[in-house]
Amino acid sequence: MADRTLLKNGIVLSLDKKIGNFMKADVLIEGSQIAAVGPNLEAEGAEVIDASKMIVMPGFIDTHRHVWEGILRNIGTDVPLEGDASYLAFILNTLAPVYRPEDAYVGDLVGLYGAIDAGITTILDWSHIQATREHADAVIRALQESGLRAVFAYGYPWWKYPDENQDNWIRDVAKQYFSSKDQLLTFGLASPGPEFIPFEFAESQWKLAREVGAHITVHVGVGTAGKLGKLGEMGRAGLLKDDTTYIHCTTLSDDEIQMIVDTGGTFSLASPVEMMMGHGMPPTQRFLDRGLRPSLSVDVETNVPNDMFTQMRSVISLQHAILFDKKLAGEDNVPALLTTRDLLEFATIEGARANGLEDVTGSLTPGKQADVIMLRIDKPNIFPINDPIGAVVWGMDTSNVDSVFVAGKALKRNGLLLNVDLNRLEKMAYESRDYVVSKSGFKLPAI
Ligand SMILES: [Zn+2]
Repeated sequence: MADRTLLKNGIVLSLDKKIGNFMKADVLIEGSQIAAVGPNLEAEGAEVIDASKMIVMPGFIDTHRHVWEGILRNIGTDVPLEGDASYLAFILNTLAPVYRPEDAYVGDLVGLYGAIDAGITTILDWSHIQATREHADAVIRALQESGLRAVFAYGYPWWKYPDENQDNWIRDVAKQYFSSKDQLLTFGLASPGPEFIPFEFAESQWKLAREVGAHITVHVGVGTAGKLGKLGEMGRAGLLKDDTTYIHCTTLSDDEIQMIVDTGGTFSLASPVEMMMGHGMPPTQRFLDRGLRPSLSVDVETNVPNDMFTQMRSVISLQHAILFDKKLAGEDNVPALLTTRDLLEFATIEGARANGLEDVTGSLTPGKQADVIMLRIDKPNIFPINDPIGAVVWGMDTSNVDSVFVAGKALKRNGLLLNVDLNRLEKMAYESRDYVVSKSGFKLPAI
């Protein structure tokens, strides 16, 4: 029989409506899977972990992050998306072009271990750092070493278009790393998006993604470029399908948003980034009004923190602010306020759906993979627990993340990351950061 682990007597938020949530219950893990969820489970021979001071729930899911930027954390917090002194100018056109494969590797490791530390168990790595074939090998090695569940979304390097090698490299990576479905990594194509490249190229990239069986993930409706109606052109050409996740969508027209909904696409919101960097107003309500619930994404650690607590609070705060403002202005028929339960679903099961993994992860459902986190409730920032869902969404932070399991394997226990030498990683991060910054001529912000 496979290894068995029993998480005993926790507050269990399965986030599976058929199973429900419990103030006191157990979660049984067998091998890589969740075997059972409920009170007083019998589990002979299992290793028993006391969860009586824990909330046990599915791991958080991030549906879009440029993980290679891990070594550039907080480098652009006062920098907007567009303009002469901007994210596009500094990060993508100055710093990214000097990245060696080893810098992409270290950047990814930093981001991935940060994600695990924050209770994230699945991440979509939107990896538009693929300047050479070796960059893909380096990033995939980091993803494999981390132990996370991930979508490796191969991304065309922004500053190297056009590059005739890329299509062959994409086919090659698909064959070398993604022939098997029975692994933690799945394949995606991080398409440059029709706003930033000629229509024919966007079309050819989407066709290539479908040829190699890659999930498509694309930035659309981004700032000024998003108003050009380019997604509508793609839609009218019959290219929008249910295998695609649309990121931001901030400046899309209502017709374009409706096209996404009608064709079964999914939506990745990066609300803190969108608000602070000038992408446009997060379109949460425009999607909710049409029946499509968002997933959440960190996007860039150059600007925002790496955790889903920040994400959840940002999304619910903005929606409430806008709706209460309407109520105070005397408007009738104001839409329903989001609840904390909605936000917890956006950060878990909706993330699984957007990453094409809803049958695999995103809830504590027997038969799904055991991607589980335990959040401490005996810390001074959170006791006494009166409403566990409210506590996770509004009261907790990453200091409450005690344990993280992916496919039944512990990646963090007792508040400490396993399987990584953090002193070594820190040293690698500084060395790589120093190389990238000095080679590019970028000046770190003055203090
Ligand atoms: Zn992005």
